[in-house]
Amino acid sequence: MAKIKKYVYAFGGGKADGNEAMKNLLGGKGANLAEMAGHPQLRLPVPPGFTITTEVCTYYYKNKKTYPKELKQAVDAALARVEKLTGKKFGDPKNPLLVSVRSGARKSMPGMMDTVLNVGLCERTLPGLIDQTQNPRFAYDSYRRLIMMYSDVVMEKAEGIEPKDGKGIRKILDERLDKVKQEKGYKSDTELTVEDLKQLIVDFKQKIKDVLGKEFPDEPQAQLWGGIGAVFASWNGKRAVEYRRIEHIPDDWGTAVNVQAMVFGNMGDDSATGVAFTRNPGNGENQFYGEYLVNAQGEDVVAGIRTPAPINEYSKNDQSRHLPTLEETMPQIYKQLNDIRIRLEKHYKDMLDIEFTIEKGKLYMLQCRVGKRNGIAAVRMATEMVKEGLIDSETAIMRVGPNQLVELLLPMLDPKVEQTTAPIAKGLPAGPGGAQGRVVFTSHDAVEWAARGEKVILVREETSPEDVDGMHKAQAILTSKGGMTSHAALVARGWGKCCIVGCGDIEIAQDNKSFSTKKGIVVKEGDWISLNGTKGLVYNGKLPLQDVDLEHNKSYTDLMKMVDKVRVLNIRTNADTPKDAAKAIQFGAEGIGLFRTEHMFYGEGSDKPLFLLRKMIMSRTEAERRKALDELFQYVKNDIKATMEVMDGRPVTVRLLDPPLHEFVPHSEDKLQALARELNIDMTELRKRAESLRENNPMLGHRGVRLGITYPEITEMQVRAILESAGELIQSGKKALPEIMIPVTGTVNELTHQKAIVDKVYLEVCEKLGLKKIPFLYGTMIEIPRAALTANRMAEVAEFFSFGTNDLTQMGFGFSRDDVGSFLPDYLSAKILPDDPFQTIDQEGIGELIKIGIDRGRATRPHLKVGICGEHGGDPESVKFCHRVGMNYVSCSPFRIPISRLAAAQAAVEEKAKAKSKAKGKSTTSKSKRKK
Ligand code: PEP
Ligand code: MG
Repeated sequence: MAKIKKYVYAFGGGKADGNEAMKNLLGGKGANLAEMAGHPQLRLPVPPGFTITTEVCTYYYKNKKTYPKELKQAVDAALARVEKLTGKKFGDPKNPLLVSVRSGARKSMPGMMDTVLNVGLCERTLPGLIDQTQNPRFAYDSYRRLIMMYSDVVMEKAEGIEPKDGKGIRKILDERLDKVKQEKGYKSDTELTVEDLKQLIVDFKQKIKDVLGKEFPDEPQAQLWGGIGAVFASWNGKRAVEYRRIEHIPDDWGTAVNVQAMVFGNMGDDSATGVAFTRNPGNGENQFYGEYLVNAQGEDVVAGIRTPAPINEYSKNDQSRHLPTLEETMPQIYKQLNDIRIRLEKHYKDMLDIEFTIEKGKLYMLQCRVGKRNGIAAVRMATEMVKEGLIDSETAIMRVGPNQLVELLLPMLDPKVEQTTAPIAKGLPAGPGGAQGRVVFTSHDAVEWAARGEKVILVREETSPEDVDGMHKAQAILTSKGGMTSHAALVARGWGKCCIVGCGDIEIAQDNKSFSTKKGIVVKEGDWISLNGTKGLVYNGKLPLQDVDLEHNKSYTDLMKMVDKVRVLNIRTNADTPKDAAKAIQFGAEGIGLFRTEHMFYGEGSDKPLFLLRKMIMSRTEAERRKALDELFQYVKNDIKATMEVMDGRPVTVRLLDPPLHEFVPHSEDKLQALARELNIDMTELRKRAESLRENNPMLGHRGVRLGITYPEITEMQVRAILESAGELIQSGKKALPEIMIPVTGTVNELTHQKAIVDKVYLEVCEKLGLKKIPFLYGTMIEIPRAALTANRMAEVAEFFSFGTNDLTQMGFGFSRDDVGSFLPDYLSAKILPDDPFQTIDQEGIGELIKIGIDRGRATRPHLKVGICGEHGGDPESVKFCHRVGMNYVSCSPFRIPISRLAAAQAAVEEKAKAKSKAKGKSTTSKSKRKK
């Protein structure tokens, strides 16, 4: 007989069916509840409950939103166990059990899915709750909360009802509650009396019927199953789908549902609820960091409705400085919580995010999960945990997402300007870094403005999961309400986005699309503001941004030491000026993988060389061209030599001229006239020459090596500049190691042709400088599919390959890299392609060409040096691929170097782990670095 599938996993009472390793089945929350409740080293005070697995969710969607037939019985049995452990009964009029119903996917999706609390409360069970608690106000308040949540989550959202005017049932009920408060002159919800609440409950039920056309189900079992269904439905809710798309979470993972006995933080002043991190998630400091609210339910903390109090002195901030800490008000509980914090960190060996509730002086743990942290904190925690002996260096390397390093490289507001500028408001520093942008007040506007290229800062009273798209598109987020654990703070932290929350100094007039500060400054939609997310300061206008000082960040340098020890890939940079080269060395570059010669003809100081280049292009005869090239020579040589000098003997790959010549033809009349004068020809002739350079398809036209074939003198001049630069540096006692790279090659004959020129010039330069030899390599880019396929032939002449994956992707896919924007978004949203192939290597197709290229190349020349210099060299997933296929180096822009270094190290650790599990401890990764 086939084994019956287990759909429900119980926990509580010192035991659990599941454990932390079962995240795929139980979701993150369920797996961790099981671990906390049942692991012998923990057995923490967790209210009993059970988890319905993610498989039920997948079943539900595969089977027309129905459940497996065994589910009902399994839920009944698990509920009976909870009843036994709590001594209460679900639906019992005398001693009713109330439960919470919460979602919990494999990966946390903060606030994206739904929760219903106080399930099981109805007219029948209400007297029992009053009797048991001797607290009628609490009982009625819990009931009105259930009605509000249930109608919103189960009766409206899960049913897919889109309120016509955007005003959902929750908002309608909230307004009625506010009206009562206003009429009675109450400031806070806690002032509502039993009579008020009774009246509100009647009113709410009627309103629900009027608006949604259905009665609120006043029956525990119906509420329970309604809640379960709503959680499953919320997996495919708009917000959750949007979040998954941003976070690349697969749709078929599904969510689990956790049903758990309620404990109440809102039973009076000896009750509370809170959220804490075992270390500070904002900067990584090893300090217990959290917030709590007396007499409140968990949703109040996360929703950011009241400013929470700090759990200890360390957690105080400007908004909460005056509030008493948990350590002061409930010292015993704080001690117990701090002890749990230490045990949890030892057990999980990571920073955790915990939720707790104190019910009448008794502590309960409601959740624990590995906490989200920003990049700065991730680096600090990882390195400090190594020092504390909690983790090893390889674990530390895997703990930091390569893209999280971007945050350490994030610009800050210029501190000098900040010193002399008065902030207009101050809030809580929820996401570090600096940002400047134009103010918008809705998520919708943020998306729209960003789409037309505007930099925006999203300003809201508080954010909700509906805002994620706009938050994602904004440069930064500013909220007037909420604490460090509010939705905005959690989401921004996860993304490493600059964010300030709880900025009580500003008052938002949503209808006017403006906000005003306490000092009376009014900021309107479209106005520029700047944020210092590290300090929580808001400035009027556009403050300049500045790069950060990485070298003095000890955690960063510690991490990078570990990274450099394990990585095998070398990291080079794409740089073509001495300034960029110097920056790249600071970031750890071990060479230049791509010096694009044409860049000296753009931007600052390019007027003269560009003029000479144009003169060369417009030349008709070889003599004319050689004359122009002779003049150009010194400029080219100076640029190459200066950069090579900065690189101080590290390899420098100089690529010969790549773009089609017509790209350099001037358009303005005065420039054309100056050229005509210089060449001593009339304008008609000049126009004729310019016209003759025009091509229908320049990307596939007269570019790269093809220029050197038609005009060998262009190659000659460049090679001479490279070799003379190197030779002169060597003569003056310095080091130089040039690599001459031929672009856009497709056949070995092109390489042979150009090699003859290189050899001839080499002899001439040696002789001119009186040198016996100048070290250099001769190689090619592999960026045309034919070159990859005939790599065995190419390697007969080329001493190195550098994969130009920009062009290889363009020519492999047949997607024009300049025009792909018009259709790629459709490919991505229809999931025809998983990622933009110009950002992340398409491993299945283009990756195959790369593998073929490397294998065939090395079949001819076993020690062929191989690298990559397309944009992919700075993309973590692509870097890992480059490691796996055995490249020697990746080359990327200076600012991506730390990211590539980390990704390369992670690839090495991953490979080692894989080899270990395959060959029982035998590593295949060679410890020594690959050849540079
Ligand atoms: C490439 O094609 O990947 C490359 C690096 O060259 P470019 O982007 O200059 O064409
Ligand atoms: Mg190219």
